[in-house]
Amino acid sequence: MRNPAYVLAPGREKSLLNRHPWVFSGAIAKVRGDVGPGDTVDILADDGRFLGRAAASPASQIRARIWTFDEKEHVDAAFFERRLRSAIARRAPLLTGEHPAARLVHAESDGMPGLIADRFGSTVVVQVLAAGAEAWRDTIFDALARITGATAIVERSDVEVRALEQLAERRGLVSGVATEHIEIVEHDLRYGIDVTAGQKTGFYLDQRDNRRRVRAMARDADVLDGFCYTGGFALNARAGGARSIMAIDSSADAIAQGCRNLALNPSGADVEWVEADAFSHLRLLRDRNRQFDLIVLDPPKLAPTVRHVERAARAYKDINLLAFKMLRPGGCLVTFSCSGGVGIELFQKIVAGAAVDARVDARIEARLGPASDHGAALSFPEGDYLKGLVLRRS
Ligand code: SAH
Repeated sequence: MRNPAYVLAPGREKSLLNRHPWVFSGAIAKVRGDVGPGDTVDILADDGRFLGRAAASPASQIRARIWTFDEKEHVDAAFFERRLRSAIARRAPLLTGEHPAARLVHAESDGMPGLIADRFGSTVVVQVLAAGAEAWRDTIFDALARITGATAIVERSDVEVRALEQLAERRGLVSGVATEHIEIVEHDLRYGIDVTAGQKTGFYLDQRDNRRRVRAMARDADVLDGFCYTGGFALNARAGGARSIMAIDSSADAIAQGCRNLALNPSGADVEWVEADAFSHLRLLRDRNRQFDLIVLDPPKLAPTVRHVERAARAYKDINLLAFKMLRPGGCLVTFSCSGGVGIELFQKIVAGAAVDARVDARIEARLGPASDHGAALSFPEGDYLKGLVLRRS
C-alpha cells in the first residue's frame, strides 16, 4: 500500500538532501491522499523524486519529521526496534554499575524525532513530543521496556511544546512498578531522582562531564552555583575540596532534593542553600561585596526560540556581569546557555560584553558542550543547544 505524500515546492528539497529531518509547512506544495496526525507520509520533490519517509503533523509548523531517508525502509514495529536498539547500544559505555544514568534516545539526533528517553537506575523516563512518536507510542513503550529490561517506564510528556503538535500534556506510570526512591550514581556521587515531579525527566544528564570538570577546579575555592537545581555542580565542587559553597535556585523542591543529595554523600564543606530568584540574589551578593573563586551559571532556557533572543541576551549579560564583578582575580566563571536560539558565537559576544562592563579581563580556557549521550546529529544543528565557556579572570 502506498503512503500518502507531501510534494514539495520547487527548490524546497535542499534541506532534506542535506539530511535535515524537518519539513516546514511552507515547503509543501501538494498533499496526496488523506493525512492525519502521526501518519506516515512520503516526502517527494517537485519532480516526484523520493526524499524521505516522515511522520505528518498537520497542525504543526513543522509539518513532517523524517523517520528515514531510505526509500526501502518501512516504518513499522521492526523499524522502532532497530532504531531503539542501536541508540541504546551507543550508550553501553555509560550504562555500567548498579545505578546508571544516561540518555538513551536523543530525539532527532538518534533518528527518532520527538522522542526522549532517559534511564535512571532501573527506571526509564520518556518524553513524547511530536505527533509521529505519539502515534507509535505503544510500540515504542513496548520496545523500550523489552530492550532495557526496565522495572518501570514513566512518561513525562508534561511539556508545553506538545501544544504545538496539538497534543495534551501527559504524565504517569506507563508500565512496571514505580519505585519511589530512585537513586543514581554519577562520578561516584549519589543523587536521588524524582521522576514524577522533578524538572524535565528528573535530572540534567547533559551536564555530566561538565560537573566533573567543575570538581577538578574547586580545591580550596569559595564556590557559587547560580542555578543549582538538585546540587549537581555544588556537590561536585564539594567533592573537589571547595572551601565554601553557596547554591541558589528558585525552586523549593529542587533545593529540598539538593539537601537530601548532600546527606547521601560523604563529608565535605557545608552547602549554603538559598531559595531565591538568582537574578536578584546575585545583585544582592554583589551589593554585599561577596567574592568567589569559582562561579557556575547554568540558567534555564532563556530563549527557547530566536524570537526571545533579545530579552534573553539582556538576561545572560546581566547575570554574567554580576558574576564577573564577584570573581576574585585568578578565579573562574563557568557559564552556560541551553537556549537553542542563542548560538555559541552570540553567547560569547554577550559574555564578552559583560566582562567589559564589569571592567575585568578574562581568557577562554575551554568551550564546553553536552555529554556524549546528548550528541547532536551533524545534519541537525538545532539539537546542539548546550554551550558553555570556562573563563579565567586575569
Ligand atoms: N546545574 C543544574 C541544572 C540547572 S537547570 C544541574 O547540574 O543539575 C536550571 C535551574 O534554574 C532549575 O533548577 C530552575 O529551577 C532554576 N531557575 C529557573 N529560574 C530561576 C531563577 N530566576 N532564579 C534561580 N533559579 C532559577
